[in-house]
Amino acid sequence: MARRFFVGGNFKMNGSLKTVKDIINGLNNAQLDPNVGMEVVVAPSAIYLVLARELLRKDVEVAAQNVFDKPNGAFTGEISVDQLKDAGVTWTILGHSERRVILQEENSFIATKTEAALKGGISVILCIGESLEQREASKTIDVVTSQLAAVAQCVQDWSDIVIAYEPIWAIGTGKVATTQQAQEVHLAIRKWLASNVSEQTSETTRIIYGGSVTDKNCKDLAKQPDIDGFLVGGASLKPACE
Ligand code: PGA
Repeated sequence: MARRFFVGGNFKMNGSLKTVKDIINGLNNAQLDPNVGMEVVVAPSAIYLVLARELLRKDVEVAAQNVFDKPNGAFTGEISVDQLKDAGVTWTILGHSERRVILQEENSFIATKTEAALKGGISVILCIGESLEQREASKTIDVVTSQLAAVAQCVQDWSDIVIAYEPIWAIGTGKVATTQQAQEVHLAIRKWLASNVSEQTSETTRIIYGGSVTDKNCKDLAKQPDIDGFLVGGASLKPACE
């Protein structure tokens, strides 16, 4: 079964009212080939989510970069699933390595946030990936599958999850994974889904790659059978090219 190609733009903690509006204008004027039927989602900082949803063309969706696992209440500084929905936001990134490493988010917390988002009707771009040290110790597959296993403890239905494989050593470094390295991990993730969730989930789940993706290196990666799209950081802040 064909999986719909998925491209996410993760602005991280970047941008201003002006630059976010400029990027949105670029996207609004870009020609997205309807025959390709690509799904495009942009994730600005929380403070620009409402603006992005108001100004963006309707065939491009908006993602938060994080969401909390509790309903509305006394959680200073957090944003709830209901608040995202109220703002017309339909996706959230969860488990990004910058949050896992800098904010010390554990697998179990990412899993409960994933569960809360899905239950509330927000789709999830679930990021997983290994450090350079883990790769060099041949632990890549163990790391990514244990990150997935934590989520599988809370979530049965994976139909609103896109898995983003983002090797930490490739994020923001200009050091993109080779097509072979990426395909190998994507295939292992797909096999893990088949054995641990279901055959159908394995066939239908989009597994996208992130880590120094640019308009130059994306074409070869996109040809790999198990790469179903990209999560783009730095390059998503550049003006849309023709
Ligand atoms: P990058 O970031 O494209 O700047 O490497 C990707 C990401 O962190 O999602």
